[in-house]
Amino acid sequence: MLVLNGKEVAKEVRSSLAPRVTRFMKEFGRAPHLAVVLVGDDGASHVYVKNKKIACESIGMSSTIHNMPTSTTQQELDDKIQELNQDPAVDGILVQFPLPKHLNSDEVLRQIAPGKDADSLTYESMGLFFAGRADVKPCTPEGVMTMLRHYGIAVEGKRAVVVGRSNIVGKPMAQLLTDANATVTVCHSRTKNLSEFTRQADLVVVAAGKARMLGKEDFKKDAIVIDVGIHRDGPGGKLCGDVRFEELTQWAQAATPVPGGVGPMTIATLLQNTCLLAEKRAGLR
Ligand code: NDP
Repeated sequence: MLVLNGKEVAKEVRSSLAPRVTRFMKEFGRAPHLAVVLVGDDGASHVYVKNKKIACESIGMSSTIHNMPTSTTQQELDDKIQELNQDPAVDGILVQFPLPKHLNSDEVLRQIAPGKDADSLTYESMGLFFAGRADVKPCTPEGVMTMLRHYGIAVEGKRAVVVGRSNIVGKPMAQLLTDANATVTVCHSRTKNLSEFTRQADLVVVAAGKARMLGKEDFKKDAIVIDVGIHRDGPGGKLCGDVRFEELTQWAQAATPVPGGVGPMTIATLLQNTCLLAEKRAGLR
């Protein structure tokens, strides 16, 4: 089985961005800048945000983390986003989800200026994306597509199944696979006999958010399996995905591990998007 090494591919994506960052710095005297808003004390979110900052620094991009307490009100959060919208030195804004329960993520998405929407989550960005007119695409699905291209895995004509239909992963993933000429079926929590669908697919992207839910028996021989899930409750408290990766080694044609698969690609795409937004705002594109 070919292990799709997201860490390596992400490193290549970052290397390809470094000269663009240098050029931007030369022309504008500052690096493209990502502002991340983090509300509350969710441990996993703090780790993800820290990794995003490290990735930015690795290619000379700048980033700021705006830590806000769990007690933050909707008004305070909206004000923070407006402040970042107005700040000429901020190119990309990312609000780390999930938010504490009393905050309204819909409202947050309405606040982010589309021209600074680094994860393509605002309704305007989503509209452009589904109309095929977006410059910036949702980070996780676009990262998956970059990884498939890197390994020369052609999607055209394949029977693909996406497990999950969230706005952030499942729906845009299905759209990108459709755009790449796969024939796509979307499954979700109300799908009856899920494995009847997944077992027919040449390519399965699993984004159900259920630890170790699918294994060898759920995939056909020589399938390509992309695992988007991230959980901290694997054997021995290790990170794991939605798929029991160890069962696939003599079965799948290719699969992504967790960690080291889709996660690094999501971050690399976030950097790519921020760079692109900076260049667009500066008139370089
Ligand atoms: P959501 O919880 O928003 O969506 C999960 C989707 O999976 C829903 O559409 C749900 O169906 C479906 N689902 C849930 N249970 C089942 C089941 N038993 N069978 C079939 N479908 C099911 O999650 P996200 O899309 O935001 O994230 C999915 C996973 O990916 C999570 O583990 C998350 O942590 C991870 N993630 C990883 C990223 C990375 O960079 N690697 C980035 C983003 C997310 P329904 O719509 O019917 O409820």
